Amino acid sequence: MIPRRRIALRRDDLADWLRAWKEDTAFASEAIGAFEQVFADRIGARHALAVASGRDALTLIIDGLGLGAGDELIVPAYTLGELLPLLQKRGLRLVAADVDPRTFNVTPDSVRSRISANTRAILVLHAFGAPCDIRGLCALADSYHIPLIEDCAHAPGAMIGGRLTGSFGKAALFSLEATKAISSFGGGVVTTSDATLAETIATKVSSRPQGNCALRRIAFKWGEELLVRSPLYGPLARVLFSEKVAASFERFYRRTHSRVRSGDGAPQEAFSALQARLAQRRLKELETRNRRLNLLWQELADRLPENFQAQRRDSFGTPAFYNFVARFAGDTRRLRQAAHRRGIDLGIGSEVMDNVAPLLDTLDCPGVAELFASAVMIPLYDDMPRSRVERIVRTLEILQHEAA
Ligand SMILES: *Cc1c(COP(=O)(O)O)cnc(C)c1O
Repeated sequence: MIPRRRIALRRDDLADWLRAWKEDTAFASEAIGAFEQVFADRIGARHALAVASGRDALTLIIDGLGLGAGDELIVPAYTLGELLPLLQKRGLRLVAADVDPRTFNVTPDSVRSRISANTRAILVLHAFGAPCDIRGLCALADSYHIPLIEDCAHAPGAMIGGRLTGSFGKAALFSLEATKAISSFGGGVVTTSDATLAETIATKVSSRPQGNCALRRIAFKWGEELLVRSPLYGPLARVLFSEKVAASFERFYRRTHSRVRSGDGAPQEAFSALQARLAQRRLKELETRNRRLNLLWQELADRLPENFQAQRRDSFGTPAFYNFVARFAGDTRRLRQAAHRRGIDLGIGSEVMDNVAPLLDTLDCPGVAELFASAVMIPLYDDMPRSRVERIVRTLEILQHEAA
């Protein structure tokens, strides 16, 4: 079975993990400070703050900007649905801006049509690493004196006109989750050039307890990854991703994962020195990684059969790599099932991002409706050999007619 994604298992991570057991925490704040400095310099922002997760980064920005009950926040209609409850819990009114089904991103026009007298901030995403029209969007936000927040969870290293994503808006959030480009097995970063906002967030996170969440999460992810690489995975995936089992398996997986993430409802833990070390190492390799995966992405995109259409990723700059997602003109459910039978994991549908427009009662979002109904994730990951690209292309060629 060719898995949808794989995370890199590295000996030096394991060595760091073992060392962290007996580490003297006196040096922790130094290691974290060093990482934050390198990150800020790299992105081109004045401040970077390492926090518990991408979600944590987003809510710290929202709270730091003083947004609360009754304020309106414009969000992309195509994004991670799990972000919504965090924002709604604060009493924010969320309004979805439609996306262009070719780029998967919001546009200045789609955002402009959602601005009202109550709009207090705009959240935009660089979907799957493809830069959105961030300059057009910032100009729009500036003209209304509304702060713009960049969700860079998919896009560390993406460039627009020589500047990196995460340096354009009032603030940006990054995720250091195991599946993201810079992994510290959980964690997140806020970047901003606003000294007051940086100070507010720094004060909040400085009182958090040191925990062992990174240790727990590395153990969990390594276990999961070793299973994906074992011969057991093929037969197991066929059962777990089958139509009868998939939905309940996913609920179980999400519950387990969220328990490992947060330590069962415990308060957010401080970013640790171990995480700083892991993330800093991957940050160093980010450019090489993006270059290699963008080439592989292009190779796959160029050879996709005619019923597939890859995301348009270079409309506004140089993309970073996250996942390969394409639109399929046919029955995506049948395509996924047929692909599983032939040993290619195209997921079960809910792993690609969500159409949040209906959840927010924003009805006129035709772009996201079209995109969401046709999106499929195609395997492409760190150390994928070229021979697999070949096999994927040939299989999709056959399957597209079966699932037409
Ligand atoms: C992963 C992700 C986040 C949040 O990251 P976590 O570290 O998992 O909390 C935010 N936005 C998008 C679009 C993401 O994919």
